[in-house]
Amino acid sequence: MSLVKVTNLSKKFGKFTALDGVNLEVNSGEIFGFIGPNGAGKSTTIRVLLGILKASEGNVMIFGKDAWNDAVEIHKRVAYVPGDVNLWPNLTGGEVIDLFVKLRGTNNKSRREELIKRFDLDPTKKCRTYSKGNRQKVALIAAFCSDADLYILDEPTSGLDPLMENVFQECVLEVKKAGKSVLLSSHILSEVEKLCDRVGIIREGRIIETGTLKELRHLTRTQVFVETRKPILDLNQMKGIHEIAEKDQGVNFQVDTEEMEHVMKHISQYGIMKLESAPPTLEDLFMRHYEGSEKTDTGVGGAN
Ligand code: ADP
Ligand code: MG
Repeated sequence: MSLVKVTNLSKKFGKFTALDGVNLEVNSGEIFGFIGPNGAGKSTTIRVLLGILKASEGNVMIFGKDAWNDAVEIHKRVAYVPGDVNLWPNLTGGEVIDLFVKLRGTNNKSRREELIKRFDLDPTKKCRTYSKGNRQKVALIAAFCSDADLYILDEPTSGLDPLMENVFQECVLEVKKAGKSVLLSSHILSEVEKLCDRVGIIREGRIIETGTLKELRHLTRTQVFVETRKPILDLNQMKGIHEIAEKDQGVNFQVDTEEMEHVMKHISQYGIMKLESAPPTLEDLFMRHYEGSEKTDTGVGGAN
């Protein structure tokens, strides 16, 4: 069953088209990864889902209700964490957590204490003194304290250090285990690969790929280095081979993952003496999609 169903969503800001026919679905009980470079339209999509922005076109349903018209009702069952958390400067972190938790009508003291401990937050400090990472923790604790059916997390770990990134990942897996659904927007591909059941890749306001990680891996390439007894003469004529380069006694190349079997069979005739391969990553796929787009706008390569 789909908890979130976005059909043909477009959003214009004046003449600028930020979203152009976006389709996406988050099924009950799954973690859906929403990935794309800065400016691709992740936050805009999420703001429409939250009823903060009105769609220019299209249909946006959460729990079978309309994201704009039924926002109040939908919000009772949604927890949201933005990428850049602003808090009331004069309240302490603990007070803000309590406020959020009360607003949601849940009051689970032991869960609150447990999360504060795991995220290593000092809840007695005024929010104005918190770093970005600590503000992020306050919002994450408040979200994971609440008993929502859908967690919408918009690049929620941008200020967290690696240790806290681990705590975050555990929390996401816990809510999934409890049968809840998560929409996680991210540009940290290792995070997405670890957590998500399905992934949608957005670029310039359009979804360019959607599928399970397994399905997307079919679109990936494996990096291979091979040394053979006899030279492989016809490598460049084989289907699914890319980026051939001779190196030392052997040759480096990439293979489309789906062509792997027949490529390996073929080259084994030449007498394999040494074989190395690096597993395909989502990052490679992602980067190939962005080849040709501006190098500075992804934040993808450097962020992890
Ligand atoms: P992402 O979250 O993927 O980084 P955003 O959804 O924030 O991307 O932005 C998508 C595009 O829409 C960007 O080009 C951004 O500048 C533009 N945009 C976002 N919000 C507004 C707004 N309120 N007014 C005008 N343009 C906007
Ligand atoms: Mg964003």
